[in-house]
Amino acid sequence: MTDNRATLRARLDAAVGSAQVLTAESDVLPYVTDWRGRFHGRALAVVRPGSTDEVADVVRICAELRVPIVAQGGNTGQCGGATPDAEGNAIVLSLARMNRVRAVDPDNATLTAEAGVPLAAVQQAAADSGLLFPLSLAAEGSCTIGGNLSTNAGGTAVLRFGNARELVLGIEVVLADGRIWNGLRGLRKDNTGYDLKQLFIGAEGTLGIVTAAVLKLYPAPRARVTALAAVPDVASSVRLLRDLRAALGDRVTGFELMSALSMAIARKHHPGSPDPCPGHPWYALIQADDTLVDSPLPAQVELALGAALESGVALDATIAQSVEQAHTLWALRENIAEAQRREGPNIKHDISLPVSAIPRFVDEARDALSAALPGIRFVTFGHLGDGNLHYNLAGPEGTDQGAFMANARQANRIVHDLVAAHGGSISAEHGIGQLKREELTRYKSATEMDLMRKVKAALDPAGVLNPGKVL
Ligand SMILES: Cc1cc2nc3c(=O)[nH]c(=O)nc-3n(C[C@H](O)[C@H](O)[C@H](O)COP(=O)(O)OP(=O)(O)OC[C@H]3O[C@@H](n4cnc5c(N)ncnc54)[C@H](O)[C@@H]3O)c2cc1C
Repeated sequence: MTDNRATLRARLDAAVGSAQVLTAESDVLPYVTDWRGRFHGRALAVVRPGSTDEVADVVRICAELRVPIVAQGGNTGQCGGATPDAEGNAIVLSLARMNRVRAVDPDNATLTAEAGVPLAAVQQAAADSGLLFPLSLAAEGSCTIGGNLSTNAGGTAVLRFGNARELVLGIEVVLADGRIWNGLRGLRKDNTGYDLKQLFIGAEGTLGIVTAAVLKLYPAPRARVTALAAVPDVASSVRLLRDLRAALGDRVTGFELMSALSMAIARKHHPGSPDPCPGHPWYALIQADDTLVDSPLPAQVELALGAALESGVALDATIAQSVEQAHTLWALRENIAEAQRREGPNIKHDISLPVSAIPRFVDEARDALSAALPGIRFVTFGHLGDGNLHYNLAGPEGTDQGAFMANARQANRIVHDLVAAHGGSISAEHGIGQLKREELTRYKSATEMDLMRKVKAALDPAGVLNPGKVL
């Protein structure tokens, strides 16, 4: 170890205790590989502070010694944002020990949680107070609220409640120089200048370390209906969404699209999964919630789906009759990402478009990709209600899926150019990380990139926080 490294180690040990500074290769390994197994980095150490003051100490030490800091929550991100580079001169700052729910205020309908609280634990703490924290995604058992805010996570209830950024009232951040900004305000109205908290949300650890947040809670639903509808094509799924919203209003909380192939892959890797409404090309998973006692919601959903079946917008439909059945239907959707990982490498796109543009995009992208890469398979699913598709591509059946990844550049160009042509975004909810950094410069205007660089330079002039990510 060089002198510098020895100094760093000694100071980190003093700041957080030597047991919380991991350097053994086997201890560090899980923190330097991403969830998809696509990015592999190295780190000087994994540092696990237990309080905001300790985070501030660690950041101050690293700022002084010019050691890059890669913040990490649950390490479930999809773009390599939490993985250090291969240089091995950064530390991974794990927020996992900052896992306390500091307060629940039912009258203010807010919850204050530390960054390392798993999303599922935030949901549970809200439920224990008879309230709802609506952010929900398949990784909720592992991902943390700090990671959710830093990626501005979306998930399955954006249609009704918005992205993570819309669920935050206040935030506590350790700045790049080690100062703590306590912005933990539980206010729904606060027009006292720039809304600084929003800068840190979605910043992927490049502007500050999120240590805690005040989150918005909502009345818990008393009635929930989950249904699966088979539809003939993507245009019909858009029509179904519109009809359901016309019939049910904003009680439609989730509307997920799944191709037959994506469901088949989920079933293959999760044996025992059912195959409701078999034999159709596309499926919509629908969730509707109501907070009313004795809500008429179940009968209204049935009526709306009945009308869709009659008009041919839907070809078949099933409504969950119990909480278990609802979980089973949701599992079909939520198991897709994990099943795809087991299936082998695939070229992933996390895109958003105006909902109205999705059917045309799907047709045009299919034609262009099939012409360029014959036999290509489309594992398309996603949060259709938010205009967000996970537009994933697999190689022809029976071929080497690893070798197919060599086509990523060509496929990305086709998909992202079409997305841009339809006024969409190349990253709907997963962020940029290191995966899409180059793509970002292609699709953002020079003016927008310049503003982003100026924000970065203002908040992290020495470039200590997650260098090489986003920008
Ligand atoms: C099966 C599966 C399903 C998923 N579904 C969805 C989905 O529906 N919607 C969605 O949006 N995402 C989804 N994701 C992606 C992922 O779960 C989210 O991006 C999540 O918000 C990441 O949280 P994390 O704690 O794991 O963050 P990490 O992966 O640890 O970090 C993500 C980024 O945030 C930064 N970061 C983490 N914590 C902090 C902090 N405290 N302060 C500053 N920066 C920090 C990291 O440096 C990194 O850049 C899914 C992932 C999986 C594996």
